[in-house]
Amino acid sequence: QFPFGRRLPCDIYWHGVSFHDNIIFSGQVNKFPGMMETVRKITLSRAMRTMQDLFPLEYNFYPRSWILPEELPLFVAEVRMMKDSNPSWKPTFIVKPDGGCQGDGIYLIKDPSDIRLTGSIQSRAAVVQEYICKPLLVDKLKFDIRLYVLLKSLEPLEIYIAKDGLSRFCTEPYQEPTLKNLHQVFMHLTNYSLNIHSGNFIHSDSVNTGSKRTFSSILCRLSSRGADVKKLWSDIISLVIKTIIALTPELKVYYQSDIPAGKPGPTCFQILGFDILLMKNLKPMLLEVNANPSMRIEHEQELSPGVFENVPSPVDEEVKVAVIRDTLRLVDPLKKKRKDTHLSFHTYLLIFPTQLQSLHAGIASMKDKQHKHHSLKLSLKLCQSLEQVPGASEELPDAPPSPEAALPSLCLKQVFPKYAKQFSYLRLVDRVAALFIHFLGVKGTTKLGPTGFRTFIRNCKLSNSNFSMAAVDILYIDITRRWNSMAIDHKESGMCLQAFVEAFFCLAQKKYKSLPLHEQVASLIELCECRLAALHGKRLLWG
Ligand code: ADP
Repeated sequence: QFPFGRRLPCDIYWHGVSFHDNIIFSGQVNKFPGMMETVRKITLSRAMRTMQDLFPLEYNFYPRSWILPEELPLFVAEVRMMKDSNPSWKPTFIVKPDGGCQGDGIYLIKDPSDIRLTGSIQSRAAVVQEYICKPLLVDKLKFDIRLYVLLKSLEPLEIYIAKDGLSRFCTEPYQEPTLKNLHQVFMHLTNYSLNIHSGNFIHSDSVNTGSKRTFSSILCRLSSRGADVKKLWSDIISLVIKTIIALTPELKVYYQSDIPAGKPGPTCFQILGFDILLMKNLKPMLLEVNANPSMRIEHEQELSPGVFENVPSPVDEEVKVAVIRDTLRLVDPLKKKRKDTHLSFHTYLLIFPTQLQSLHAGIASMKDKQHKHHSLKLSLKLCQSLEQVPGASEELPDAPPSPEAALPSLCLKQVFPKYAKQFSYLRLVDRVAALFIHFLGVKGTTKLGPTGFRTFIRNCKLSNSNFSMAAVDILYIDITRRWNSMAIDHKESGMCLQAFVEAFFCLAQKKYKSLPLHEQVASLIELCECRLAALHGKRLLWG
């Protein structure tokens, strides 16, 4: 660990919280620039809404959501309309503060008028979402699933899913929400950080009992009840792929700004935590995506009042150690080097504090010898994947066997590009983002200025007698002003990607009136790409 950084370049950098190091010029970093911002509740809900507008059926795994405070009137109006058209509909909503985590500040309501609107704009920023009232129960308890997903590369897109995850249980038997039980967090919220404080939390050494279990143990149980577990996995895989497809446009904007193409920089990968709720009918619903999922493999136990000790958690260990070990195996620079050069190198791994730190956390403080031994063994297990034998190579005759051979089979399964064909039609906003990035001009920015927008319209030949350049300017000003008034940070002026997407949809609707939205947008993208290719061809010819 190098808490103050390190001068010599490394093959892998392991940051604790986010991508924050602008002086890395090579190697691989375990965080993407902008990931934290992209998966915040409001940004995620916006990205999902855009995809729901384009592909409502494909994206119905994300609960209907509204952004507060700006969409409060819309929320009130839509709920009233739905209630009018279906008087038997008795919905519940869940309000989640934008910056919150671990269930902080979350509450349930039955009526839009119950939203609490006090505090500054920042503190009021939240998402209000339809509450899933009929979750699948096991042992009469609500639970959710934490699945680990490795985004190994953004361009080209490479996604891996861990074969096992965690199931986190509530600690009070579930009842459908009523005015009387709305406030009972141990019944409605599955957060480990909340339920651990309930007197009913059960720490278990077994992976299929207690308040935290492996997801595979739940699948076994479902399978023995006759559930179609294969279908469930395939639904989960498509949920993950579709969610990442919704996130990539924004991530690409951050990426080109922090690591401009053509300049030396690192490549990135990231382990994400997907929180998924299963409905009674086994449909998986996305709750949220965590950019910085906890990798702790022990929990605190209160020995006597006020005296805590870290004790190993076998369930966490089983799932998380495999995820980190396989991530390191997949990004292992030696693999590539061995293939490329038949030579061997030493791997340097630079770990920044906080995340892997948990592996060692408490070892020193452990009084119990057995626990200390256990944790050290665990660290060694993880390090196996990094141990390299100098001079050894798979390809050389009489070389010792690759260290891979001694490891268990991969728990991370590649799902993209493996299933790319099925999902490529959904990647429309990605192509809109490519146009946006093309016209950004100045390297290092994430917002488009008025000149960039005009150049986009001109180069793609989108203005005509019905749509003058003056109208183009008005469109730019209207949309940009509205988006900037909603933004919490005003660091940069100009049009953000989401505003550009809105403007693009607007232009598409104008041009191709009678088609469904995704066809309008696809047609406009094709037109723009064609015209830019022609322009580029002409430039090459003149050049
Ligand atoms: P946080 O980041 O604060 O944990 P989440 O979005 O994960 O916020 O929500 C916390 C918990 O609330 C979830 O683990 C889940 O149990 C419950 N929850 C969240 N959204 C819904 C929903 N739409 N329907 C039902 N339960 C939900």
